[in-house]
Amino acid sequence: MNKTVLITGAAGGIGSAIARELAENGYDIALNYCHSRDKALQLQDEIIEKYHVRCMAIQADVSKEDEVDTMVSEIEKEMGPVDILINNAGIDLPNLFDEKNAEEFRRVLDVNVVGAYNCAKRVSKHMIDSRYGKIINITSTNGINTYYPMCFDYDASKAALISLTHNLAIQFAPYVNVNAIAPGFIGTEKELEGYDEQFLKSETEKILLRRYGEPQEVAHLVRFLISEEASYINNSIIRIDGGQTGSI
Ligand code: NAP
Repeated sequence: MNKTVLITGAAGGIGSAIARELAENGYDIALNYCHSRDKALQLQDEIIEKYHVRCMAIQADVSKEDEVDTMVSEIEKEMGPVDILINNAGIDLPNLFDEKNAEEFRRVLDVNVVGAYNCAKRVSKHMIDSRYGKIINITSTNGINTYYPMCFDYDASKAALISLTHNLAIQFAPYVNVNAIAPGFIGTEKELEGYDEQFLKSETEKILLRRYGEPQEVAHLVRFLISEEASYINNSIIRIDGGQTGSI
C-alpha cells in the first residue's frame, strides 16, 4: 500500500515539482491548492496518467482551521489517512517597509506559519496513533539570516516556521520525524518573471555556485528526507542554497 502525502500549495513552482517527484516514486498524492484550481486539476490528471498512483486535487486556505479540517477529512475518505505532510504553501507580499501594514504582516504569518500549524495538528493524531509520520516544512534561508527590508514579514514568518519545526518535532516525538528545508534562490517560473536581468545577476553573484537552484533539486531533497534512508534525520533545518553568502 502506497503512503499518502499531502502537499500544500502543490500547484506552485516548488510544490508541483515535489508532487511529480513523489508520484514518480510511488506515493499517493493529495494536491492542496488555494486559488489555482485549473493548474491543480491539470497536475492531478497528469500525475494519474503518467505515474499511475492515486492523486486528488483539493482546495483549502491553509490559514483557516475549519478548511484544513474539511480538506483532511475528504482526503481520509478518498485516499486514507495522511502519512506524510509537506507544508509548502507560502506567500510573500514584498513592499517598501514604510508602506507595509499590520494587516499584510498578519496575513503572511497566517499562511506561512499558522497554515503549517493547522495542517500538522490535523494530521498528527493519525501519525502518532500509527507510530509513523513525516512532516517537512518548507521554510527559507530568509528565515535564517538573509534579510530584505521589502519582505521583513516573510523573513519573520520563515524564522517562525523554523521555530515551529523544532516545537513540532518535540511535540510529536518519538514516531514522527519533523524537519525543515530552507531553500535559497530557486528559479521557479514566478520567481524568474518577477526580477529584471540586473537583479537576477546580482542575486546569483551572492551564491557560491553562481546559479539559482531548480525546483527539482528541492524535490529530490524532500524525496530523500521522507525515505527510510533518512529516518535518523529529525528536528533538522537543511539549507539548499548553493552556498549562499550571508545565510550561514
Ligand atoms: P509559488 O509558486 O507561489 O507557490 C506557493 C503556493 O502556495 C501557491 O501554489 C499557492 O497556491 C499556495 N498558497 C498561497 N496561499 C495559500 C493558502 N492560504 N492556502 C493554501 N495554499 C496557499 O512559490 P514557490 O516558489 O513554489 O514557493 C513554495 C514554497 O517555497 C513557499 O513556502 C516559499 O516561501 C518557499 N521558498 C521559495 C523559494 C524560491 O526561491 N522560489 C525560496 C525559499 C523558500 P494557490 O496558487 O492555489 O493560491
